[in-house]
Amino acid sequence: MKKGSTVRFKTLDCFSNQITSQEQLITTIDFNRVNPATGPVYVEDAKEGDVLVVDILKIDVADVGIASTLPETGPLIDKVDGLRTKILPVKAGNIIFNDIEFPANPMIGVLGVAPKEGDIPCGFPGAHGGNMDCNKIVENSRVYFPVSIPGALFQLGDLHASMGDGEICGTGVEIGGEVEVKLDLVKDFNLKWPVLETEDMWYVIASDDNIEKALKHASEQMQILINKAYEWDMTDAYLYMSVRGSFEICQGCKPSSLPAVVRFGIPK
Ligand code: CA
Ligand code: ZN
Repeated sequence: MKKGSTVRFKTLDCFSNQITSQEQLITTIDFNRVNPATGPVYVEDAKEGDVLVVDILKIDVADVGIASTLPETGPLIDKVDGLRTKILPVKAGNIIFNDIEFPANPMIGVLGVAPKEGDIPCGFPGAHGGNMDCNKIVENSRVYFPVSIPGALFQLGDLHASMGDGEICGTGVEIGGEVEVKLDLVKDFNLKWPVLETEDMWYVIASDDNIEKALKHASEQMQILINKAYEWDMTDAYLYMSVRGSFEICQGCKPSSLPAVVRFGIPK
């Protein structure tokens, strides 16, 4: 497609729609099909060293989502009554959980471009994006990705009707749906990690084996962006980040094999 075009994606839920009832535990599904993404889309004129700009125009989710505890995942997995599948209806913008309702916050868990080399499963995050599980990636937000190969090869999937920061048991309200995005390019801009722009904030999203390393990646990228944008030196950028920044957790369901994902934010 040409840059500046709008494209609509249809997505399965993160279980590839393999779970259909509360009686069905997560251990019954084929894990090779977990966290599917729809795509890829080839963006004409995109090349290494460019930045792909993704405007999230619309997120429509289905009317039933699923949450599940996952084996060996999250800080409380040894404190609960084994594995459980929970079907969670979404009605008129609210999610029904037992005897309460709370507002849905439809978001995209997996989105990104192709990595420079090799294959990365859609369940993993990285500098290419992927399974970032950031609950600020919602309608009217914009995400910037470093392009590593010609055409960028953009994909997305893994919608959540709601997900808490940290997603501590390993799932949000996993749900299928449709997403409309506009794809555009910034030519020749050096970026190492994805950047998220919301109505009032800039965030760098980064990941690694643990939260400390992920914070280092995210804050280093933010320091460089502040240095460029405001023409302050690296020390002033660091000081400003300390007095005004915010360090937030996207994905923190350790112990699990998944890297930790964090975001470092600065008000616009
Ligand atoms: Ca996810
Ligand atoms: Zn998910």
